Order: sequence, then structure tokens, then C-alpha cells
Amino acid sequence: SYSIDRPVKNWDQKRKQWLKHHTHFAESTNNRVLIVTGSQPSVCRNPTGDHLHLRLFKNKVDYSRIHGHEIFYNNALFHPQMPGFWAKYPLIRSAMLAHPEVEWVWWVDSDAVFTDMEFKLPLEKYERFNLVVHGWSNLVYDNKSWTSLNAGVFLIRNCQWSMEIMERWTSMGPKSPDYEKWGKTQKSLLKDKLYPESDDQSALIYLLLKEREKWGEKIFLESDYNFEGYWLGLVNDLDDISKSYIEIEQKVEILRRRHAEKVSEYYGLLREEYVNGIVKRRPFVVHFTGCEPCSGEFNPTYTWEACWNGMQRALNFADNQVLRRFGFFRPDLLNSSLLLPLPFDFPLVW
Ligand code: UDP
Ligand code: MN
Repeated sequence: SYSIDRPVKNWDQKRKQWLKHHTHFAESTNNRVLIVTGSQPSVCRNPTGDHLHLRLFKNKVDYSRIHGHEIFYNNALFHPQMPGFWAKYPLIRSAMLAHPEVEWVWWVDSDAVFTDMEFKLPLEKYERFNLVVHGWSNLVYDNKSWTSLNAGVFLIRNCQWSMEIMERWTSMGPKSPDYEKWGKTQKSLLKDKLYPESDDQSALIYLLLKEREKWGEKIFLESDYNFEGYWLGLVNDLDDISKSYIEIEQKVEILRRRHAEKVSEYYGLLREEYVNGIVKRRPFVVHFTGCEPCSGEFNPTYTWEACWNGMQRALNFADNQVLRRFGFFRPDLLNSSLLLPLPFDFPLVW
């Protein structure tokens, strides 16, 4: 019954019934989030791929741990005809059925890095939606662009609507007899689409453009923050952002030593500085789309070195936020081996 070929029916009622029998979950059910991610079943062809996957996974585990989310990592193919980026849909569906207690499944591509360990999802904002994707509606509806949204990171509610949209969504995928035809349809609809094969991102844009009245009102395109952000535009800023955060921390430390009693006031002021954009804010998630860290078959418009350096920067930038609690940091974002003790006793209130 877990096969994606057999549609799930009445999931909302079944889930409600389940929750009735598992009352200890009921009270906090509304905001329970399960992060789901994964990778291919076999060894990476690129010799550094599995090392990168380990670091990318560690980053997600750290974020989940800090925010109390559950996380499921999967490297099995739940449908033999749905490999690659299509693999997530049968997996998300199974995760929903296996975890009736979670309200949201948060799909995060393996090649996405949490770069703000403090940022929390604004779930209240998504109350009346079932699917949250990083995207811009003018680029979807006016420009009909392939990159108007990104299907590498999304939140999807554990409900019958989601079962139905995923069924429709994957009807454009490789398990469908019309797979080739869908590739052509998408390519002619989205002029900037690079590949001739039907892909899940194009399929979602297709649903917004052609079946908006059916799905549109439950889909939220988030563009207020980097729910995921394209790595090329973000990784070069990380060194500066890191420096300015350290400067703030040092300022706080000096003030703390002088006026210990006023410390929370200073924190408030300094926090404001960065919230108001005096200091550039950390991106929330950096997504290494096109880098293909596992196969090494990166997009030919940039080099492997650019991908590698970008990933080191992002991973070390994120890990510094974790390590400081343990009293250490990496001073050089490109050097993963060099670790130093923090120059001051780091106050834990920050
Ligand atoms: N993936 C998976 N199982 C597989 C292959 C891929 O779960 O067998 C996932 C993996 O998390 C990967 C995602 O599918 O990050 C999408 O692929 P990719 O990130 O390479 O696509 P891109 O973001 O570069 O377009
Ligand atoms: Mn990706």
C-alpha cells in the first residue's frame, strides 16, 4: 500500500483517527516538522562525494537538533522508475504515512546547507497553505521562467491535498508513459529550461501556470528570505558576514566586561544592528544546485573548484555557529582542518 502507484485516499480522516489513538502527540501536532533528505543508493563516483555528503548531512542534523525537528535520511529508491530528483516524491509520501504525528514534511536537497543555525521557520505565516516553495510569482506567471521557483527545498503539509498534488506532479515524471511528451511540453512552456527531460521543478511551475485554480491558493511562494538561495550569488559574501558577526560578538564581549549588569541591553542593541541591515544578514539556506557533489558532473558554466570552495565556505560558516558553543571556531572558511579555541569566553545568551 506504500507504492506510489496506488493512490492514498481519505488521508485526513485516517490521520485524525490515528491521532485520536495517540493522544500524547495531539497537543503539539500543529507545528511538528520532519526534515526529509537523502541521496543515491550507491557510492559516489566523485572521490570526494561521500565526504561531502557526510558534511552536508551533519549540517542538517545540527540544524534539526538545535530546533527540535526530527530528521529522516534515506538512500533507498522507493520507486524503481523514479531516480534522481524524482526520488523525493515516493519518499515524502511514505514519510507522511509513516509519521502521522508530523504536520509538515520539510524536504531539503542533500546539496543544500543551513547557513543560519538560529533562524526558525515562520510557520504561523504558512497556516493557510499546504506547500511552501522559494519563488517569485511575477517570474512564474509573467516570465514563465524555469528558475522562478526552486523545488530543492520545500515544506509540504501532511494531508490528503499533498497526496493528490504529488500524484499529479509525478504523473509528469519517468514512471509515466507520457514522460517524453511532458519534457517537450515543459520545454515549450518555459523557454529558459536547460534540459529536454521532464523535471519536477518544471512540473510544479506547469501546475501553477495551467492548473492554478486547482492548486494555486494552497501554494505559497516565499521570497522574504533565502528559504533556499542559489549558491553562486551567496558564497562570496560569507567571509565578510562572518567577520562582521565576529566584530559584533567582540563588541558585546568588551561591553560585557565593562558593564556586566547591562549585558542584555547591549545584546538587544547589537541584535537590532543586524536585523536592520547595518550588518548583512546570514542567508538561511545555500543550495548548491548544479554542483552535483556526488557524481561530479557539475554544470559546465562554472568549475568544480568554484563548487568545492563554495561548499567549504558554506559548511564551515555554518559549523562555526555550532562549534562556538563548544569553544572553537575555524578562522579560515576555506581551511577545514585549522581549528582554534575562541579568543574569549563566549557568553551563551547570544
Ligand atoms: N536524491 C535522492 N536519491 C537519489 C538521487 C538524488 O534522494 O537517488 C536527492 C538528493 O537529495 C539531491 C536531490 O535528490 O540533492 C536533487 O538532486 P540535485 O540536488 O542533484 O539537483 P539540483 O539541485 O542540482 O538540480
Ligand atoms: Mn539540489
